[in-house]
Amino acid sequence: MGIPVHDVLIVGGGGAGLRAAIAIGEEFPDLSIGVVSKVYPMRSHTVSAEGGAAGVIKPNDSLDDHCYDTISGADWLADQDAVEAFVNEAPKELIQLEHWGCPWSREPDGSVAVRPFGGMKIRRTWFAADKTGFHMLHALFQTSLRYKPVVRYDEFFVTKLLVNDGRCQGVTAIEIRTGEVHAIGGKSVILCTGGAGRIFPFTTNAAIKNGDGMALAYRAGVPLKDMEFVQYHPTGLPGTGILITEAARGEGGVLLNKDGYRYLQDYELGEALPLDSPDHPRLRAMELGPRDRLSQAFVKEQERGRTIQGKYGDYVHLDLRHLGQKKIDKQIPFVRDTAKNYIGIDPVYEPIPVRPVVHYMMGGVDTDIDGATSLPGLFAAGECACVSINGANRLGSNSLTELLVFGRRAARVAAGFAIENPAVDEDAIRKQAAEEEERIRSCFLERTGGSETIADIRTDLNTTLDKGAGIYRNEGALKETCATVLELKKRFGEIQLTDRTRTFNTELQNALELEFMLDAGEALAFSAVARTESRGSHQRTDHPERNDEDFLKHSLAYRTDGEPRIDYKDVVITRWPPGERVYGKR
Ligand SMILES: Cc1cc2nc3c(=O)[nH]c(=O)nc-3n(C[C@H](O)[C@H](O)[C@H](O)COP(=O)(O)OP(=O)(O)OC[C@H]3O[C@@H](n4cnc5c(N)ncnc54)[C@H](O)[C@@H]3O)c2cc1C
Repeated sequence: MGIPVHDVLIVGGGGAGLRAAIAIGEEFPDLSIGVVSKVYPMRSHTVSAEGGAAGVIKPNDSLDDHCYDTISGADWLADQDAVEAFVNEAPKELIQLEHWGCPWSREPDGSVAVRPFGGMKIRRTWFAADKTGFHMLHALFQTSLRYKPVVRYDEFFVTKLLVNDGRCQGVTAIEIRTGEVHAIGGKSVILCTGGAGRIFPFTTNAAIKNGDGMALAYRAGVPLKDMEFVQYHPTGLPGTGILITEAARGEGGVLLNKDGYRYLQDYELGEALPLDSPDHPRLRAMELGPRDRLSQAFVKEQERGRTIQGKYGDYVHLDLRHLGQKKIDKQIPFVRDTAKNYIGIDPVYEPIPVRPVVHYMMGGVDTDIDGATSLPGLFAAGECACVSINGANRLGSNSLTELLVFGRRAARVAAGFAIENPAVDEDAIRKQAAEEEERIRSCFLERTGGSETIADIRTDLNTTLDKGAGIYRNEGALKETCATVLELKKRFGEIQLTDRTRTFNTELQNALELEFMLDAGEALAFSAVARTESRGSHQRTDHPERNDEDFLKHSLAYRTDGEPRIDYKDVVITRWPPGERVYGKR
């Protein structure tokens, strides 16, 4: 029997995956496109993005300003050619999205409204109230339906990349409903599988964000780049990690310690200026400093005993009361709903308890500016990729736009690759898929006598990464984390499932996801111990200074049978030589 084969096979139906599918549908109507997603596309994590998407649109802004903010925010670890391409294409993509139906919020005069966002020194974040990701994904999803060559494999879980003749030629995927393992061919394959926040215990990320695509590429020999850079968002709800969007601070919310004091004024984040003053477009507000600095300030505040102790660890207050009900309901209605529904607090009358929470992986699959990886035929875009525009610290609202710009760029190059290359060797990949099916059967479904559970290994992975690779790190703790992750990989070999059926076997899926998480965690911990400097979100208490001489470089983690091999490659500098990261004095 033949297997399904596409010209371009996209893994992931979130913002990046759907933008890529539309680009091929529009620009290469003769190519067949497959979109494989482990959840129905509208359930991808993009749907939960609230705050907005950055792009220069106002006359007081400039492309160079957006580049500079992104590069300095990244602590100079971003590739500047990629940032320039990103910033140039961002406004076109956001306007295009409106033409596809995304209802951007408006100013009273009808022009697109923009709000301030952390680390952006000028207002440039487009938004659709505080449901931006939902509206973006909806616009993309409905647009993708227009293109007949798009074949969707919803609720298919990809377990392996099929590499033949030195080229990626497809994937194996479990059809979740039946448990059947399929080979799906692709002359080129684009990974758009999102982030890996779930490797940490306390995260804003949906349960599906386990680093799948990163691990798939890593196992196929492609390095993972800058994995040590993990973004903590300063305002998550204690206990659940549910995000209170930065838009809440963008609209004027302030952070208070246990004494009701606006503590960020004690840290180097610049003074606050009135946010709604049209005469003051340049923002220097404390709460709108970059996320790494704000999360670090929380830890310092905690060390000084000025945070509030709660059932789920220490927290501070996010106070929105001065904004008033009218503004809260118009600009950030979802924040009010979230606080009311999940912790029983109405922010119109009471401050919201918040603490830093793992939010985003700056690192990911090493790609060039067009999403190409070192493995011919394999491309990556979106959060699972590291292009890199985010360097050591992503600025909030750059990610949603990144999905659009690099989803499209990767799609075009992947389409070109598919056109130029010979057909997929169906026999060869079918054979590999049969081997993968056998692995799943013997290592998981039919295995007996194993002594380990998914829950135990996952909890231990979460705990060791939190302990060693959190907001502040040091050599001793990181080395312990590295050793623990290797040990956990061994223990994973002893895993025992209780569900041996094929239909909707979520336990099997969780086991395979845990295996991906172990790979992502390994690359993270080993990259972090090797980077003996502090930069952006990677803060080493034993190496507190940034060290451009030795570390103005991307790290690359290569999988081996033992510890990963860590290598480095240069950062692309075009027009902005490395400088000090200054907030408030530009
Ligand atoms: C709560 C929250 C709020 C955010 N708010 C903002 C914001 O306001 N602005 C901003 O710029 N960024 C924001 N971000 C970040 C941004 O939303 C994400 O980085 C981005 O949406 C990721 O999109 P993606 O297309 O790369 O992946 P996702 O949207 O995560 O999609 C991944 C896709 O891959 C599929 N997939 C994964 N693994 C497999 C597998 N093994 N087999 C088959 N399919 C697979 C999934 O089914 C899914 O379709 C936010 C993130 C969170 C968590």
